[in-house]
Amino acid sequence: MYTLNLDPAALVLSALCFIYIMTTRQKQYAPPKGLKAQLLSQHFVFMLLLLVSIVSSAASVGSVYLMGRPDRQFYFLQYFLLELYFVLHTTLTMLFVLYFMNVSGTAIGRKKSFYWYFILPYALGEAVTLSNPVTSLIFYLDADMIYHRGVLMPALYCLAAVYVLTGIFFFVRYQKAIPRKDSIAICSAVVLSLLGVGIQALHPEYLTELFAEALTILGFMVMLEDRSGATDPTTLVFNRRAFLDTSRRWMETEQPYSVLLVKLVDLDRISRLFDSRDVDSLLVDVARWLETVTERENIFRYGQEDFVLTFVGLRQEEAEEAARRTLQRFASPWKAEETEVQLEVTVSVIRVSEDVNSLSMLQDLLQWGYQDTPPGSLLISHDELAALKRKLAIYDALRHALDNKSLQIWYQPIWSADTGGIIAAEALSRLIDDKLGFIPPDEFIPLAEKTGMIHELGAFAFEEVCRVLSAYNLREKGIHYLELNLSLYQLLREGVLEKLEQCRAAYGVEAGQINLEITESVSSDETPAVQELLRHLQELGYTFSLDDYGTGYSNLARLIEGSYANVKIDKSLLWGGEKNPSTARLLRNMIRIIRSLDMNVVQEGVETKDQLERVVKAGCNLVQGYYFSKPLREADFISFLDSWDPLAY
Ligand code: C2E
Ligand code: MG
Ligand code: MG
Repeated sequence: MYTLNLDPAALVLSALCFIYIMTTRQKQYAPPKGLKAQLLSQHFVFMLLLLVSIVSSAASVGSVYLMGRPDRQFYFLQYFLLELYFVLHTTLTMLFVLYFMNVSGTAIGRKKSFYWYFILPYALGEAVTLSNPVTSLIFYLDADMIYHRGVLMPALYCLAAVYVLTGIFFFVRYQKAIPRKDSIAICSAVVLSLLGVGIQALHPEYLTELFAEALTILGFMVMLEDRSGATDPTTLVFNRRAFLDTSRRWMETEQPYSVLLVKLVDLDRISRLFDSRDVDSLLVDVARWLETVTERENIFRYGQEDFVLTFVGLRQEEAEEAARRTLQRFASPWKAEETEVQLEVTVSVIRVSEDVNSLSMLQDLLQWGYQDTPPGSLLISHDELAALKRKLAIYDALRHALDNKSLQIWYQPIWSADTGGIIAAEALSRLIDDKLGFIPPDEFIPLAEKTGMIHELGAFAFEEVCRVLSAYNLREKGIHYLELNLSLYQLLREGVLEKLEQCRAAYGVEAGQINLEITESVSSDETPAVQELLRHLQELGYTFSLDDYGTGYSNLARLIEGSYANVKIDKSLLWGGEKNPSTARLLRNMIRIIRSLDMNVVQEGVETKDQLERVVKAGCNLVQGYYFSKPLREADFISFLDSWDPLAY
């Protein structure tokens, strides 16, 4: 009756796949709750496909076995098996396409109407199939219990074709979203299935369809369901690679989604206190708790200390609510070994594509954005993320400027009350980016200090100062020295002194022409090593200024030690004195004391003639401020010096 019957092979093959999956991989998988979530889970749909394949193959094998048997007593069983086969088989094409849409990330987040349209051909097919006992439109058994196709059988093929075409449409439309490996798996699957189905449709005596489908499922299992490379072995949630793949897919298919970041900020410390097995079990506890917030399918271990949860579609509020819940949970301790551990977290919600619109930006934000957020932070608003994003953009701009040597150094003249001339200038870094425009040093200097870029920046500024000192005969123009800001971080790096000296020697500049400004708050943190370095620099002939005096811990003792030639009084003190008489009195006394210790006082931020007169009257001998000039580009600074007219001020 059948020339070729591959159904038993199909049954054996799909059963083996099922056994393999159940014994090896099932523990990684926690099925989501609710039918909708399940149908939108790749693995769940795969398991459905597998089960449907097994049962329909079994039904087909059974019915073929019974076919043509003379005993009527098996009529009902035979009929039931065929009916079961058709009911399940109608599901199969729809499931194949749904599976493919899950793989490509195109199934989720669609409008409700889409799902209704999607289900419609299937529902129609099932309605006809289920009514077959009455209508015999799909198949019937003759008096000899021989199976015959009904008139509507071709319609079932047409409905299947609708799904195949839908699948092909999505495949072509979102091809970029599908990794190459997955594309190959899907294409081979389609070709193989169509071949099997086509042969059987044209030659009903060849039973090839189910075997082709079982082979397809095997291919999916091997190529698409292998999660070993996508799972974090400790917590069994997905890993970073899986997150990046998923994100890429969703971005390509323009699927909006929210990312909830849970950063365990002090995991490092915990790891030092506990055995690694205890830390692992703590992480497992955290992962299992996160499963109360969302399905395991949506949880990823992004980094050593980062969990990332995804909320696809416009579920922003849900993500924010989850963020609050998470923060609340972390307020109470976790159990490690027999003790309780308090885990510190930073929790944040990032909206794709409102907050970030590219994968690299999302990666940068996750990697660098939260490094200095205090523990217990909840960052969910646009403004908070905008601040983080600006930091990242500045980081990029500074990196770019240092690589391209496009950072600029501007010079702000310093006026001497004794001579009435410009006798020095402060070198100030300027970052002007093509996209971001002018970025204030108060934004990029702290970032440079945190990221270590300050060393490169400092070296660049130092070299520029040396170059300018040697390129123009600044001494002849009345300039005794240029001041350069030095960050404490720079001094902590080994070999810094040798580098400065090498650079200075290369330009033939004297150490006395360079004055190093150190901020007051920093000078109070000096370690013995730094003090030693400063002493050494002083011996070599460099002079020092204590910058921003009056803002930190005004430490008179440091002044008395005598390592500073100049003390620069912060502008806030000068400006504050205009409103508050006691601040003005403090400023006057400060100037008097510093002068009595034989140091120069540089008043910063002098903008008006009145301010100038006040500080000079108090005894200040050097003045820097917009009243004389704003910081100037190199060429403008030189012209400023050349055209300097003391009588104009
Ligand atoms: P600072 O060393 O206290 O520099 C003085 C700041 O006051 C400069 O700001 C200068 O432009 C500003 N200023 C001077 N006179 C006036 C005035 O009359 N009115 C007003 N409104 N402002 C005035 P800038 O250039 O924005 O620099 C800010 C800070 O960034 C500097 O404070 C310094 O701490 C740091 N910085 C700048 N360049 C470098 C650098 O190359 N290396 C390091 N480590 N720090 C730098
Ligand atoms: Mg300064
Ligand atoms: Mg200052």
